[in-house]
Parts: sequence; structure tokens; C-alpha cells
Amino acid sequence: MPAVSRDDTRGRAAPAAPPATSGLPYAGLRLLAVHAHPDDESSKGAATMVRYVRSGADVMVATLTGGERGDILNKAMDRPDVRANLPRIRREEMARAREILGVRQEFLGFVDSGLPEGDPPPPLPDGCFALQKLEDAAEPLVRLVREFRPHVMLTYDENGGYPHPDHVKCHEVTVEAFDAAADPDRYPDCGAPWQPLKLYYFATFHRARFTALHQEMERRGLESPYAAGDHHTGPVRRALRRAGPGPAGARHPDRPGKHLVRRPDRRRGGRLADRGLPPGPIAGGY
Ligand SMILES: [Zn+2]
Repeated sequence: MPAVSRDDTRGRAAPAAPPATSGLPYAGLRLLAVHAHPDDESSKGAATMVRYVRSGADVMVATLTGGERGDILNKAMDRPDVRANLPRIRREEMARAREILGVRQEFLGFVDSGLPEGDPPPPLPDGCFALQKLEDAAEPLVRLVREFRPHVMLTYDENGGYPHPDHVKCHEVTVEAFDAAADPDRYPDCGAPWQPLKLYYFATFHRARFTALHQEMERRGLESPYAAGDHHTGPVRRALRRAGPGPAGARHPDRPGKHLVRRPDRRRGGRLADRGLPPGPIAGGY
């Protein structure tokens, strides 16, 4: 058995039904964003989700783990009472994020793997999400895809967006669910087949985004962490070094050769979602 702890709350406290959307351009369309941890929905693709919520789409966030091994980056929150109650606090933060973004959300019940640090890095903890077999790890998501029936899905690219083992695994299970959900012979106990039309990868770390954040913070008189000579290392610095921006749409802004969309494998057959999609960067162009 996988280390799945089905959670009673499962995020159903979010808007029980989509708000009245008739007349809006994306009314009747469903978008499913798949994330590794609570907080990823707020740092990756949040504005995109809000844009589609405001255009009438029904947007669901699937959160694969409870974020039990997250770091506390805000020093003011690095207190023993916070550290001792991290899973509960992360759920409270997620509830607030659901309200702000206007999305529905479900926890899929896996345990955070943590980001192994050190040279060599320590082994991943027993029972964590990244160590689950692919079929076990993908099963709750296949069930959710067949239940929610999204037209479009979003997740990280094949490198996880950054090298956290849960993010890499998140990509793998999302691709598995995208490919398998329409196949009646796969995951037969997880509901009626459904084929989403497209799977997009977030392009979170790119020059145009950080430049816009930096400029807006300066405009508001805030201290920008992206100013020249800053202390950032790793993905943020690498993103700032890259040339860009490139063309928008389904290609990475800094790497125009990198595609950010996956389409269904037609040979698999399966039931296709409604093709009557309005034009737009995500919904259109199928
Ligand atoms: Zn994460």
C-alpha cells in the first residue's frame, strides 16, 4: 500500500460549486492545476488561474502532498509553535489561498519528501511521495481527473521546474494521469474514462517574470530581492542571467525551442472532452 493518508477535509471547503459564470467566455470549461505542495499554487501559475476563474472557468487545484517537510522562510514565523504545527498551518494557509484565488482544491494525501540537502544528499525518507511507485502515486489523480473532467491541465515540466523530488514526481504522475485517464483498461476502479485536451507546463523561472516583479516592487517603493548584486543563488540567479523574453504561448519565454504543451495520444482512443473551446492562450488553438 502507498503511504496515502486520505484527509477528511480534502479542500472541499472551497467554493462548493463554481460561481455563477453564465455569459463569461470560459463558462463551462474546467482547468486542473496539479501541484506538489501547499503554497506551490500561490507561487506558480496563480495569476493564470485567477485570470481563468474571472473568465468563468471552474478551476481546481490538486495538491499531492501536505507539505509536511517544508522550510520556514519567513523568520518571524520560525518559532517552536509553528514548527510543531506545520501541517495544520499549511492547511490554514491553503484555505486562505483558495479564497483569494477563487479555486477549488483537494489534497491527494501523500507525504512531502523534503528537499534533500548535503553532499552527498541524504536518502529520501521512508514512505514519502517521491518514493511511491508511479501507479500508486498517480491513482488519486486519475480518480480526480475522471471526477472533475478537466479540459486543460497544468503542471511542472519534466525537470519539475526546479529539482525538488516531489516536483519531478508531480510531473511524472500528471503525465501518467493525462495519458491514462482516457483508457478504460487503466485504473479501472477510478471512474469513467475522460481525456483532457491539453497539458501545459508552468514556465515559472524566466527573465520576463522576475524583471516585471522587480520593476513593480521598485515602483511601489519596496525593497526588491531581485536588484543587481543581490544574494540570490540557484534558479533565481540562473533565470535572471538568461536572455529573454521570447514568444509567449506554448513555448518557454527564455527557451523558444522548448515546448510547454502536451496533447493526448490519439492512438489510445478513449473519450475526448468537448471540442467547443473558445479562442485564447490556453483554451484555444486545439
Ligand atoms: Zn513545492
